[in-house]
Amino acid sequence: MDLWVKILIGISIPFFALVAVVVYRLLTLQKSLGKTKYLTLDPSVIHALVTRVSKEYAEDLDLKAALDLLIEVLIDNVSFTAASFLIPVTENSSDFNFKSHLVYEVPEAYVKGNIDVLKKYVEEHMEVSVENINREVEGGPINSSSNVQALSRVILPIEVGLLRGALCITSRKRDHFSEQLTEDLKELIHSVSECLELLWGVARRERRKFKAMVDSMRDGVFMVDEEYRFLIANPALKDMLGLYSSESVNVVRVSSFFSRHLSFEDLVSEVFVMGKTKKIEHLELEDKIYTLTVIPVKVKNVVSAVVCLLEDQTKDAELEEMRRDFSAMIIHELRSPLSVIRGTSDFLLKESANMDDSQEMTFMEQIKESSTKLLALVNNLLDSAKIESGKIELSKKMTDLAKLIKSEVEYYAYSARQKKINLKSDVEVGLAEVNVDSEKIQQVLNNLISNALKYTPDGGEIVVGALHTGDTVRLYVSDTGRGIADENKDQIFDKYKRVEGGSLTSDGEKSTGLGLAISKGIVEAHEGKIWVEDNEPKGSRFIVELPA
Ligand code: ADP
Repeated sequence: MDLWVKILIGISIPFFALVAVVVYRLLTLQKSLGKTKYLTLDPSVIHALVTRVSKEYAEDLDLKAALDLLIEVLIDNVSFTAASFLIPVTENSSDFNFKSHLVYEVPEAYVKGNIDVLKKYVEEHMEVSVENINREVEGGPINSSSNVQALSRVILPIEVGLLRGALCITSRKRDHFSEQLTEDLKELIHSVSECLELLWGVARRERRKFKAMVDSMRDGVFMVDEEYRFLIANPALKDMLGLYSSESVNVVRVSSFFSRHLSFEDLVSEVFVMGKTKKIEHLELEDKIYTLTVIPVKVKNVVSAVVCLLEDQTKDAELEEMRRDFSAMIIHELRSPLSVIRGTSDFLLKESANMDDSQEMTFMEQIKESSTKLLALVNNLLDSAKIESGKIELSKKMTDLAKLIKSEVEYYAYSARQKKINLKSDVEVGLAEVNVDSEKIQQVLNNLISNALKYTPDGGEIVVGALHTGDTVRLYVSDTGRGIADENKDQIFDKYKRVEGGSLTSDGEKSTGLGLAISKGIVEAHEGKIWVEDNEPKGSRFIVELPA
C-alpha cells in the first residue's frame, strides 16, 4: 500500500507543477491577447480551460481534446462561423481526424471546402500525405438550403511534437479577420502548442517511469475508469488471467476470473460511489489464493478511476500453513520426550525403594533416550535458526573424507544390521584431503544416512561413497528405499518440508523436515551443492558436491 501512496505522490507533484505552468502561460497569453480588440480572455475562462486541460491530461494525452477545448474558448471570445482542424490520428500516421465546430448553419459545401483547404495546407506545409480522413462536425447544423460561403479564412499550423496538422477559422463575412487578429491567433496556437508539448513531454517521461515500475511489479495492477475501461494493466495481471502479453485485458475477462466469488463490476461501482478502499482477502481462484484491493483515485475529491491490486498470496498462505503445522508438530515433539522424562523420574523418586538395580537401570535408560532426542531436536532448531540468519560459522581444516565415511558407516552399522540393511562404503582410492568443517560435513552425512535408514525397508542396501570429479569432490548416499517423486526433489530441501506431512516413518519417529534444510545450509556455506537423483534400479541418491 505504501508503494501506491508513493506512486500517487510521485504523479501528483509533477502534475501540479505542470498545471501551474499552464496557468502561467495562459495568464501571459491573456496579457498579449488583451491588447487586441477581437480577443479577450477573463480569468474565469482561463481557470475553466486549465481545469479542463488538466482533466484531459489526467486521462489521456489527447491533442484532439485539447483543440476542442481551445475552440470552445475561442467561440466565446472571437466571432467566426466555423473553426476546424485536421490532425494525424497518431504520430507519423497518414490517417487524420478532421473536426469542425460550426457556430452558424452552413451547407455541406462549406465543411467540404474547409476539409480541402486544410488537407492542401497540411500536405504542402507539413510535408505529409493525408490518406484517410475521419470526419466529425459539431454545432451548426449543416443545412443544405443555406448558401453561406467562407469569405474570410485564417489557417494556422499546429505542431506538437511529431503531431503536425492545421487549424482553420472561417467567417461568412468578408475581410472579417484583421492582420492583428491573425497574428494573435498564431501566437495563441503556438503558445498552447508549446504548453502542450511541455506538458506532454513531462507526462510522457513520467508515464514511462510509471509504466516501467508498474510493469515490473510482481502483483497484478490495473486501473479502471467509470465505464470499466482499462487504463492500465500490467504483465503480471495478464499472467494471472492466463492471457498472452499481446492479448488485451477487458472487463469481461476480469469479471469472469472473479465470477465464482464476487461481481467485479459491483465492487468497482461501490468504490466509485463510496470513495473508500476495499480489500477482499483469501479469494481462492484456480488453485491460487489472492487478495484484491480496490483503491479509489480521486481528482479534486471526485473518484475518477480505481486502481486494483491483485496479490498472489498462495506461497504466503502455504508457508503460513506449513509454519502452523510445524509449530504444532514441534510442540508435540518436545512434549512427548519431556512427558517421558517427567513421568519416569516421578516414578523413580516414588518407587525407587521398591525397585531392584536392573529395573532402575531400565528407567534411567528411558530418561537418557528421551533427553537425547530432546537435545537433538533443540540442536536442530538452533542449527536451522543459525542457517536462516546467515550466522553459520565454519571451522575448516584439511579432512580425510575416506576416514570420515568409514567412521560414519561404523557408527550406523548396528542400526543397519537390525534392519537387515547392507550398509557399505565405496570411496575412490587415493581421494585427496579437502578443506572442510569436518564436524559439519559429518552432520550432513548423519542426516543423509539416518534418512536412508528411515526410508529404506528391511533387506535393502545403502552405499556411502566419495569420488573426485574435476575440481570438486562428490559425496553420495544412495539407498534402495521408496525414492522421491520428481516434483518433490527440490522441495524436500526446504525448511519444514516433509513429503508425507508428518506421517509416522518406518522406525516410529515423527520427522521434523529440518534435516535436509540444515544439510543444504551447511553445504552451501561451503560453497557446494546438494541435490537428489533417482538411484538405479530404485531408491534415491543424495549427492553433495564440495569444492576440492
Ligand atoms: P525429516 O526426515 O525429518 O522429515 P528431512 O529434511 O531430513 O526431514 O527430509 C525431508 C523429507 O525428505 C522427508 O520427510 C522424506 O519425505 C524425504 N526424504 C529424505 N531422505 C529420503 C530418502 N532417503 N528416501 C526417501 N525420502 C527421503
